Amino acid sequence: MNIEHPPHFRTAQDGFRWDDVAYQPYKQDGTAPFKDISRQVLFHEAALNCELRYFEMAANGFSTLERHEHAHAVMILRGHGRCMVGGEVRDVKQFDLVTIPGWTWHQFRATAVEPLGFLCMVNVQRDRPVLPTAVEVTAMRQNPAVARFLDD
Ligand code: MN
Repeated sequence: MNIEHPPHFRTAQDGFRWDDVAYQPYKQDGTAPFKDISRQVLFHEAALNCELRYFEMAANGFSTLERHEHAHAVMILRGHGRCMVGGEVRDVKQFDLVTIPGWTWHQFRATAVEPLGFLCMVNVQRDRPVLPTAVEVTAMRQNPAVARFLDD
């Protein structure tokens, strides 16, 4: 499908999939700092300069710990889990909203019992994520809540 000209209507399927939306499991080669996460780009709207993606982690999965100039607007759509934004760690559940400002460290983690899925809005044009250095991870770990989160 040409994502620049999607059909006006796309029907939801069972299992958090959608017609004419490619399911993209992230490749895991052992070096990438994420686990059991997939991506579906629901909207790629040049006229709005935004994309809306659906990410899903399997039980025990997690997203990359990263930061970047662009911001994220997130709605949890499936299950519950934990999320870190800056030094703040929270339990999140279906329909909760998470705002991730630019240059703020963030990560999502599913629980051991169920998948965690979320909608994530971003600019179409955006910078690439940056991963923390060992020194930065050590600094983050000074916060006990963050250390517990990262060790979960
Ligand atoms: Mn991000």
